[in-house]
Amino acid sequence: MRDQFSIIFVFLIIALGSCSAAALKSKKTIGASVAIFTAAITPPIIGNLVIIRSVTAVPAKIGYYIYFLGMDLMIWSMYKFVTEYCNYKWKGSKPRVIIELILAADMIQYAFDPFFHQAFTVDKPVLVDNFNYYRLVPKLGQTFHRAVVYGILVVVLVMLFIKMVTASRIYSERYSVIFGSLVLAALWQSFYIFSRSPVDRSMIGFGVIGLLIFYFSLYYRPMRLLDRMLANIASEMSEALFFFDSNGRCIWANAPALELSGLSEDTVDKSDKILGEKFGDCLGKPDNWFSGFVIGEDDDAQYYVIENHYVNDDHGKFAGSFLTVRDNTTEQRRLKREMYNATHDRLTGLYTREYFYQQVSELLHNSPEVRRYIVVLNIRNFKMVNDIFTNEFGDKVLIYLAERIRATLSDNSIYGRIAGDIFGACIPVDEFDINELDRRFSDYRVGDGSIEYNILVHLGVYEIIDPSVDISVMIDRANLALSTIKDDYHKHVAVYDENMRRNVLWGQHISTQLDDALAEGQIRPYLQAIVDKSGRIVGAEALVRWIHPSEGFLSPAMFIPVFEKNGMIVEVDRFMWRSACEILARWKNEDIDLFISVNISPKDFYFMDVAEEIQSLVREYGVDPSRLRVEITETVMMTDIESKMRVLDDLRRAGFIVEMDDFGSGFSSLNMLKDMPVDVLKIDMKFLSKTEDISRAQTIVRNIINLSDDLGISALTEGVETENQYKVLLGMGCRMFQGYYFSKPIPVSDFEELSRSGIQTA
Ligand code: C2E
Ligand code: CA
Ligand code: CA
Repeated sequence: MRDQFSIIFVFLIIALGSCSAAALKSKKTIGASVAIFTAAITPPIIGNLVIIRSVTAVPAKIGYYIYFLGMDLMIWSMYKFVTEYCNYKWKGSKPRVIIELILAADMIQYAFDPFFHQAFTVDKPVLVDNFNYYRLVPKLGQTFHRAVVYGILVVVLVMLFIKMVTASRIYSERYSVIFGSLVLAALWQSFYIFSRSPVDRSMIGFGVIGLLIFYFSLYYRPMRLLDRMLANIASEMSEALFFFDSNGRCIWANAPALELSGLSEDTVDKSDKILGEKFGDCLGKPDNWFSGFVIGEDDDAQYYVIENHYVNDDHGKFAGSFLTVRDNTTEQRRLKREMYNATHDRLTGLYTREYFYQQVSELLHNSPEVRRYIVVLNIRNFKMVNDIFTNEFGDKVLIYLAERIRATLSDNSIYGRIAGDIFGACIPVDEFDINELDRRFSDYRVGDGSIEYNILVHLGVYEIIDPSVDISVMIDRANLALSTIKDDYHKHVAVYDENMRRNVLWGQHISTQLDDALAEGQIRPYLQAIVDKSGRIVGAEALVRWIHPSEGFLSPAMFIPVFEKNGMIVEVDRFMWRSACEILARWKNEDIDLFISVNISPKDFYFMDVAEEIQSLVREYGVDPSRLRVEITETVMMTDIESKMRVLDDLRRAGFIVEMDDFGSGFSSLNMLKDMPVDVLKIDMKFLSKTEDISRAQTIVRNIINLSDDLGISALTEGVETENQYKVLLGMGCRMFQGYYFSKPIPVSDFEELSRSGIQTA
């Protein structure tokens, strides 16, 4: 019997040792605990082996020490393993500290046992199988040891038990196997203790537990668990799932699938028929496949994604298939909506800029042979519409124009909202001529009960010559044409031509040079004489000239419009005003008793405090303000009238004479004249000579002169070219004149010469 047990123990020691080594290599987190536990079972077994092989008392006693200390180690590692296995807290856990302290106490008392024999002694040997066997005589320390080991074992069992009961059914298996075998081992151990049998057979039990734990925690894959999990997943899947056997008969369907097919668990075998009706015959395709289906149309459309999987058994034979049907409708609708939102302007529902560009470029690519316009539509003074009325009304205006575009253009056209109040369209040339476009879009009335407003739309048109040119370039060209439309109420459409592009380039060319030109004296004032009714020079208008080093002599028409557009006119005017003051200061010393008129551009009012600027100049040069006259045009008074009036009032109060330039060129009515804070009206013959009927022109001039007389404003006629004109105007009561008939604008020194000699008129 001793030999048989010895063999079993040796076998267990080797087996546990190998398990421990294998567990140590395992990549699972629990591997280390398993390794410690399986290793820790060997010392008690070794102890027992020593005990049963001992023939004298001393080795037997040593065997007992190994046995009991080994038990302490084993019970500790079992506690550690179970803690981790059950996912209880290990690091920093309080029970662990208590248990470790108690175990330490037990070990210490064994350390004292050789001296005090308080744990156990051994009996006189008894003969077992003709060998001495030293039976244990337990004392107080041994009772303590047993209490400790059993106590901890109970704790471990409770831990397992709690998990067993609380964990879901499919999991409790992993706990119950270990729980059960521990209970068995514990009972076996108890039997040994009470039977006082010479060999601790329970060691075999602990050994087997070690092997079981090794297997369960590291290698066992709970098939039942997997089955149950898969079944759960399948039935809880939100997708419809149908299982078919190898004959193609439906054997199971989850709840969404039953709902989709309208079947019950009993009638589920009809699924293939119903799916066939719904999605067509393709379901029969014997393959793994994946496909999208659309049922219904437009807003009612339902979208499905169907996947079919074939399942083969271990030998590669077809075993059945399963089919998933996913209702994709919500996602598809969301995608469609997003797509729509990304490509359509929210306010007007027209294409967004990017989408418009994209669609146009596709169209041009697909049918480059069709002649087309790119048209840019811009609402005149839209900012003002928003400011004066409300933003809601502004929105309404935009929607209205969008509607009009939609109603006017055919499917052969593409249109969109490019930005703010700018719309773009690509229109076949055949469908409209330019005048027709103008008629359809430019002028219409928007009202919303209380507000009625006449919307004026400007159109920039570019006829596509090379369809491969970038759409943004075409739009730029149409925009360029648009920007040439001035604020006159008769012209709403401009068609791009190469001149426009050249003008833009010219503008860029001279704009970069202005600063240097001013610094180098290329920009100069010329003076044009102003005479009284007897032809005597009384003053001059300062007119700017640019003597350009490479372009030659530039008249203001070549650069003033450019600088008025980009605001650089401010620099030119400042320079001219300063030059005028310089000249006046010099004349003062030379006793030349003449005035100079300077021009003020409407843009100047945007960029500076005109009154302050001019006053500080005359102060600086010590010039009498009445010598410096300022000319403003009617356009100045078109916006922000009150603040402009204030500037003019300030200037007049400071002693300057304010002149209204180019009177009669625009829309200023004679009516508004009476409120104007001006001293002089300049009537330009140029505007009158447009009127073919000479007598009508004469009537107008006569009326203006009479009216200005009544208002106490003096009239000055400019652009006088002939003696006849001069005579006629004299006859009408005009008292001041300017024009080529008297003198062209000439350099300052020439003018001074002229003023000395006087003008020879007939
Ligand atoms: P404006 O202020 O109406 O100046 C009168 C323009 O009429 C001048 O053209 C002058 O040369 C021209 N003119 C004078 N008498 C006659 C005539 O008998 N027949 C004809 N056909 N034309 C005559 P200019 O110098 O080419 O200036 C053109 C415009 O450029 C000016 O019109 C003015 O609006 C602007 N301008 C000129 N200098 C300045 C300046 O320093 N600052 C600003 N802001 N604008 C200026
Ligand atoms: Ca002028
Ligand atoms: Ca003028």
